[in-house]
This record gives sequence, C-alpha cells and structure tokens, in this order.
Amino acid sequence: MDIVIFAILLATSEAYVFSSIWFTKRINHTASTSHHEKLIPEVPHRWSKVAKPNPICQTDQCKKAAEALIENMNRTADPCENFYEFACGGWEKTHPMPPTEASWSQFDVAADKNLYEIKDILESDVDLNEPSPVTDIKMVYETCIKRDSSDTKEHLKPLLDLMSTMGGGWPMVSGNTWNDENFVWYETAADVIFQIFSSSIFGVFVSNDPKNTKAYVITVDQPSFVLPREMLVKSSTYKRQLEAYKTFIAETAWVLAKAAGRSDVTRSSILHEAEEMIEFEKKLANMASPREMRRNVLRTYNPMTLRDLQEWSDMAAPNQIDWLKYVRRITANLTLSFNWTERVIVRETDFIFRCIQLIQETSPRTIANYIHWGVVKHFVKDLTNKIHQLAFEFERVLSGAIDDKPRWKECISVANSALEMALGYSYVQKHFDNSAKLAALEMSDNIKSVFSEELGKLGWMDAATKELARQKVAAMARHIGYPAWFSNSSALVHYYEGLEVSDNHFNNVLYSSRFKFFRNFKRLRTTSDRDEWITSPAEVNAFFNPPKNSIIFPAAILQPPFFKKERLEALNYGAIGVIIGHEISHAFDDVGRQYDAEGNLAEWWTESTKETYLNKSQCFVNQYGNYRVPKLDGMLNAEAKLNGVNTLGENIADNGGLHSALVAYRKHVAKNGAEPGLPGLESFTAEQLFFLSFANNWCETITKESLLQSVLSDPHSPHSYRVLGTIQNSEDFPKIFNCPRKKVEACVMW
Ligand SMILES: [Zn+2]
Repeated sequence: MDIVIFAILLATSEAYVFSSIWFTKRINHTASTSHHEKLIPEVPHRWSKVAKPNPICQTDQCKKAAEALIENMNRTADPCENFYEFACGGWEKTHPMPPTEASWSQFDVAADKNLYEIKDILESDVDLNEPSPVTDIKMVYETCIKRDSSDTKEHLKPLLDLMSTMGGGWPMVSGNTWNDENFVWYETAADVIFQIFSSSIFGVFVSNDPKNTKAYVITVDQPSFVLPREMLVKSSTYKRQLEAYKTFIAETAWVLAKAAGRSDVTRSSILHEAEEMIEFEKKLANMASPREMRRNVLRTYNPMTLRDLQEWSDMAAPNQIDWLKYVRRITANLTLSFNWTERVIVRETDFIFRCIQLIQETSPRTIANYIHWGVVKHFVKDLTNKIHQLAFEFERVLSGAIDDKPRWKECISVANSALEMALGYSYVQKHFDNSAKLAALEMSDNIKSVFSEELGKLGWMDAATKELARQKVAAMARHIGYPAWFSNSSALVHYYEGLEVSDNHFNNVLYSSRFKFFRNFKRLRTTSDRDEWITSPAEVNAFFNPPKNSIIFPAAILQPPFFKKERLEALNYGAIGVIIGHEISHAFDDVGRQYDAEGNLAEWWTESTKETYLNKSQCFVNQYGNYRVPKLDGMLNAEAKLNGVNTLGENIADNGGLHSALVAYRKHVAKNGAEPGLPGLESFTAEQLFFLSFANNWCETITKESLLQSVLSDPHSPHSYRVLGTIQNSEDFPKIFNCPRKKVEACVMW
C-alpha cells in the first residue's frame, strides 16, 4: 500500500475490473526476518477439546508450519473474543516491520522472499541458450543498478527533451518561453497516452467489450489520481497530504527549471502554478465518480460512436476536442484506421461532459502544467538522486515508511514492469515445483464442485438463477502456476517482439511503457484470448477476471504459508483453499454477478432472486461499515469506519471462500481419512487448525498512514477485519472452538 500511489500511475484504468486477493503493491520490500523461537508448551484451554492421543505429523513441512503458526499466536487471547489476536497477536513481535515498509503481512514476507530469488535470477550470467527476453530483462536490471543518478543536468535532459516534443514542454519550468499559441490540449494528452500509456485528463485504452467479451473496444474512462480521490475531494481533512503533494510538485519543478537554465522562473512562480494545477486536479476529482458508484458495471457501459461522443462533448462546450483527431493521434504509430463510426465505450459520460466544460473554463497553461506533471511523475524514480528523494518524501507522508528502499529492489520493480512475463518464465523454471500445480488444480476443482453443490442447497435462490449460476461455475477457467505457452520459449520471444532494450535506463523505462501501449492497442480488431494471463507468475497474489470468467493463481502464491505439500491438508485448505474459494466467490459478488458464464455483462438473475441478493448484500454493507478503526481517529475529523460499500465484493468473497474451503476440506477427510495433529499444537483439532491457518493468511503490521490509504482506496477490508468479519459470520467457527453462542447478526451469502 505504500507504493500504491505509483503503482496506480503505472496501471491503466482497465485494471479496475480485476479482483485480487490483496492490494497489489509495486514489488519493493526489504530483508525478511526468520525466527525460530522455542515452541511454547501446550496448555489446554477451555476452548480446546479434551486432548486425545492422536498421531502427530512429523514431516519437516508439518514441523515448520507448526512453528510458524505458534510464533504468530497470542495464546493468552480468547479465540472466541478476538480470533485475529489469538492467531496473529505474536506477529508484530516476531516479524518486526522493516523501516522501508509501510505494511508487513504474510503476503509481504512471501513477496520479499521472492525478491531475493528474483535478484539471483537477474544477477546470474547470461546463458546463450536462454530466450532473448530473459537476457533483455537482465540488461534492464543491470542498467538500472549501474546507472549514474547524480544531480547533474545531463540526467534530466532526456525528460526535458521528451516533454518539449509534447505541446512545447512543461510551462511551469519553461517560464515565458511557453505560450499557448500552438498548444492543443488533447493533442498533448494523446501524446502522453502513446508515450507512457498513462491516463491524461481521461484514461483511454482498449479493453474487452463488456457485452461482447470476445471483442475489444476503445474505452474512455475518468483518470486515476496520485492521491486517493477522497483526499482531493476533502482536502481540508487531508491538509498534510495535500501540502506534501504541493511540495513534491514544486520542488521537482524547481530542480527541472534549474536544469533547463530558466532564470525567469522563480520558486514563487512555480509554487503559484503548482497551486493552480492542484486546484484543477481537485475539480477533476470532484467530477470523477466515487468507487461506490463504479461497482455498478452496467452504469459504466455506455457504447456510442465517436460521432455520438463528439456531439455529447460539443453539447458540454463546443469545439474543445476533436475526438477523431484525438484517437488518430493516439494511434498514429499503429496500422489502424478510424472514422466517425468507430464504436467506443464511455464509462463515465457525466465526467466527460463536465470535464469538457472545465477545460473550457481553465487556462491552457494550467491544463498543460497538469498534463506534463503526469509525465514527470512517471519518471520521478528514474532521474536523479534529488528528485528520487523528493518522491520518497512525498511517499513517506502517504505511507508512513521510514526509509527508502534499496536500489536493487526498485530495479527489480523496473525490470518486472518492463518484462514481467520474462521474469515469470525464469522464476517458474527455477523455483516452481510442477507438482504444486497439479495439487492446486485438484484443490480448485474440489472447491469449484463444492461451490456448485452449495449453490444447489441455497433456499433463497430460485431454480432458474441457480442453474445459470452452476453453469457459470462449470465454465470458469482456472489458470494455475503459469501460462500454457511457457512450454514454448519462442512464444516468449514472440510476446516481446518490438520491445527495444538497451543500456540506457531512461529509454528502457520509456520504451517499455510505450510497448505496453502498443500491446494494449494492437488488440483492437482481434479476438480476445480467454486464456490470457493478466499477471506475472512471480506475483504473490490471486485474481478473478470477470470478463473472462477465470481465476488465476500465479506460481508465487503456491508456497508457504499458503501452500505446501507434505503438510496437513487442513493447513492447505485453510490457507490457499480459502483463497481459491475467495476467487471463485468473486464470480458472484456484487460486481462479478453482473457477468454471465461467458464473461458478458448480462442480466441473468431473475428479478426476485436479485432483490433477495441485494438485501443480503446490505447485511455485509452494514456489518463491515460499522467496524471502527480507532487507529485512524486522530487522522480524520470524523470517527473512522470501514467503507462497507467499497469493500462489499471482497467481503462477500472472503465469506464465501472460507465456507466453501471448509466444506471441501471435510469432503477431503471423508474420502481420505482423518489427518494427524501438529507438533506443539497437539490439542488442536484438524478443523481448528484449518481456521488457524486461514487467519494466518492475514497476519499483518501496518502503519497508520498506510491503513488510512487502505480504508480510503482499497476494495479489501484491512487484514484483521478480514478475519474478524468472516469469523463473526461463520456458523461453523463457534462450534469448532466451543464458543458461547452470541447474539450477533450473521451475514451469509454463499
Ligand atoms: Zn478478492
């Protein structure tokens, strides 16, 4: 969550449709910690069943898993009162958060371990037999590591040169040499999209046509912002963050102005222009739809021709943009032709309308400043030490991290961003055990069939909707480990055809961004590949992709603490099993349910069942929306609570995932027999261990700054609430832990 501000900048808005198991960060972490405290002697608790002589699993993997569970626990806590504290109360002490981090969770620790493995891969000698993209990624990494980033003018020249080709450069660092005579805002915005594939005033990209998912279509969306939208909208509450943002912009501009040799530019002129630019961004943020509204996918489905869009824009304010020219300029380097009948999807029609009006009212200089700032921020980590430091100072205010990350971690991030599939390819070859893929396939099939069976038992869903829901589960594609085409190394070469890599770091960052643009736009006029991977196999994460009706489990998540062979299946079902169930459940969360078995946006629910679903959803909205976050009280003018609407999809998925994984585990035991116990946790039943393993997924330490970002922007509830919320709703948990029955409302969907 710390680096998310930049991760968001790098991503296209298209990514908003994917559901991941946790908020993806730019992979940047520091040294992992390893602890082997003495096992705490087992003491019977009132919640544990009478210890019975049970065989104990003595494999290395069982011992390791038991040690990890024990060191994370606080066994003085009452699991019935606070299961997160019981399972994760020891986490902070045994896994101290490194000063370069803003959160330190099981996912972070696993990703950090991966970084060391990836470092070894990237620093290994070039092998003449390896596919060329693997050699290329090593070069991108090495060039990044070895680059000279001293504070000299020459290191800023490539950026200044690039900007001067786009609408005459950045006005606030160009002084009176910039004038608006030849500035056409949408031409410059189009150039930015082509050059760095980043939204500029609008987001424009190619995505699956929601109602005809096999086809691709140009999509126009509101932009993403550096700060969470809420901070820009309620700027009086977030003065500190806004002030840091202004300083970041102004100081960066000052460094660039000096490098450009502008004596007519002063600190105060820059500050003044930065303020105007932020005011403009605040207005854009105010016009942009909040996340809550964007969960209604049908609302964002507005197909029209470029001609319709032109008429709509002209109605807002005439002649502010020529949409055909704009699209042609974005795609000038592609062999695609466009005319006024080109069909586009406009996700936020009101935003476009008001934005065109805002542009009419705003000075061209402010608009140009804003567009160019979008370019500068894309490169802030890749120029000089001074600008890097300014970026970190800003990040620190948002994330709460104390220290900046070491360069090698940032360089892995750069290399991964440039050639993530080449990195994934090498990672899989070196570190992935194919038998994990087979085991995960089997487990996902088991959980899929359980999910389907459980659907059949639901009293509130009518037969017609049930049938279609079961068809959707059956049709769900699952991608585990890595793409099938990895077996053919020439496919990897083909994948990166056209990407130019050299020993010039700036160009590597620029050309790889441009390559992403080409890859995205070249999909237009082609047919969508249902088996497309949306992530690198080296990512510790998991996804559901609604337009493809597919679930994705990259190789890197199929490792401890989430999965390991030769340990109890109770632990595997509790950890990766719940994650698999979570992703399957996403197909039926408030967003996923809007797509049918083929991944098309369609109304396949009967009216009465849909109504019941919405009522049941409201229970989750209320439950999670009432969770207080006392740690944030000092940071907000109001009582801090979770956003029950924004987190609804993830909360539904968490609850459905836990239930279906438990039922699947029970079936596994019925078929294969009871499992032994764990050393040091002898009095725990297998199902208690299942829950302990589940909660362990979410052990985390987090700074309050990062927690604030999470509450404002993350569709996932903060980790501890992911345990507490699901446990509160679980019918099984109190029985398994012999908890007194409480009168709290339980929300159940799947
Ligand atoms: Zn999710």
